[in-house]
Amino acid sequence: MKPTDRCGIFGIFGHPEAANLTYLGLYSLQHRGQESAGIVSVEGQMLHSHRGMGLVSEVFTQEVLGKLPGMSAIGHVRYSTAGASHIKNAQPFVVEYYKGGLAIAHNGNLTNARRIRDDLEAQGSIFQSTMDTEVIIHLIAHSREPTLRDRVVTALQQVKGAYSLLLLGEGQLIAIRDPNGFRPLALGRLEDAYVIASETCAFDLIGAEYHRDVEPGEVLVIDEKGPRSIRPFEKTTNSLCVFELIYFARPDSIIFDRGVYAVRLALGRQLAREHPIKADVVVPIPDSGFPATIGYARESGIPLEMGLIRNHYIGRTFIEPEQSIRHFGVKIKLNALKDAIRGKRVILVDDSIVRATTGRKIVRMIRNAGAEAIHARISSPPITHPCFYGIDTPMKKDLIAATHTVDEVSAYLTTDSLGYLSLEGLRECVGDNEHSFCYACFTGDYPVPILSCPEVSQMELFGFRSQEAEVRIGPRGRERKRESES
Ligand code: SF4
Repeated sequence: MKPTDRCGIFGIFGHPEAANLTYLGLYSLQHRGQESAGIVSVEGQMLHSHRGMGLVSEVFTQEVLGKLPGMSAIGHVRYSTAGASHIKNAQPFVVEYYKGGLAIAHNGNLTNARRIRDDLEAQGSIFQSTMDTEVIIHLIAHSREPTLRDRVVTALQQVKGAYSLLLLGEGQLIAIRDPNGFRPLALGRLEDAYVIASETCAFDLIGAEYHRDVEPGEVLVIDEKGPRSIRPFEKTTNSLCVFELIYFARPDSIIFDRGVYAVRLALGRQLAREHPIKADVVVPIPDSGFPATIGYARESGIPLEMGLIRNHYIGRTFIEPEQSIRHFGVKIKLNALKDAIRGKRVILVDDSIVRATTGRKIVRMIRNAGAEAIHARISSPPITHPCFYGIDTPMKKDLIAATHTVDEVSAYLTTDSLGYLSLEGLRECVGDNEHSFCYACFTGDYPVPILSCPEVSQMELFGFRSQEAEVRIGPRGRERKRESES
């Protein structure tokens, strides 16, 4: 199992095919979330919305898109990080408040959402969802600033954490990246229209031109007069999510001004320099391990082989036949290519190890295919801490590198050796000369405080699994739990 992002957002201002292009944009961002998808378009003052559970192709039909008129639209694909997987949590959210209609799409996690939500509920606010995005909407609705831009800024000055946001309303499309810039957000042009997307691969599909990134702390307002930016937040250091470059983003995207594919090649080359070993073939774990494997093979001079073949037609939930007499597990998705592996010393390259349970099964599969030796090489450092900024990672106790040494992880995987990329090597490959990246899942050095609500634990704060939360919730949480039981 890999850490999972996350969300993808897309917006367009000033194009007669706004909803159709948003649909295509979301299609390109599908890797950032597969649980739900939604589009909101605006025609005049009227917002039109459609959201549903499932893939973009399952949620939208030509008929549905035909009911989303207007020259501007925003869209969202979601994998739940905070808040349960449920249609009420699907985005974009649409609300009616005293200034009219407003739609919002959010990628990231707020780290003080719980405390703000408690305060707002105490003042009488009623929440429709369990999403921290809704906190932002309530704060906007509470603001009495005269313009939407200023109401949004007032709201965001109260929240902490990771957010790349798109808002649609009052004749404007507003794009915002949090002051640390955790999650990516790019600005492009398509003819006279402006487009915004989590990743530039969305621009390529619709023929838009990548213009630049929305900068950390930037509030970009696009309306009939064109785009205008302000930077209203207190300046802080950048904390760009390095995992976007290692694994999350598509290799054909430009993220944080860097080509993702080129970075991953460099990670593989660096890995080969740090952990050389005599072997016959280098094998990627498809698909995400590919670019680093190419880098490793080029640097080491050892040939790359497609030792694992992936079935690309597995749905999100494969149902094994009832009469099945055995558990198929990882074999449903991957199969070892015996001709490429038998009798060979194999270097198996992947981008990360989380729990190592899937990795162990893959190693067994390769061993059963006749490999003479298996050396695992990982193009990132050991993941030792959970992410609280919009990436779904297990809790610390479930991260194998948090509780095991490298040799112990290798023994668990049953590999002959294991080598992780060093943190210094990673820094060098992403060109982090100005300390602009977040590495907290490797170091525990969180750039934005997590326990901003001291009486509620991290578990509760981020809506983690309830049985774990029960064990760890603080005094106020226990009180609440008792109340709910009584
Ligand atoms: S903790 Fe890791 S996954 Fe989360 S934002 Fe930082 S680098 Fe990215």
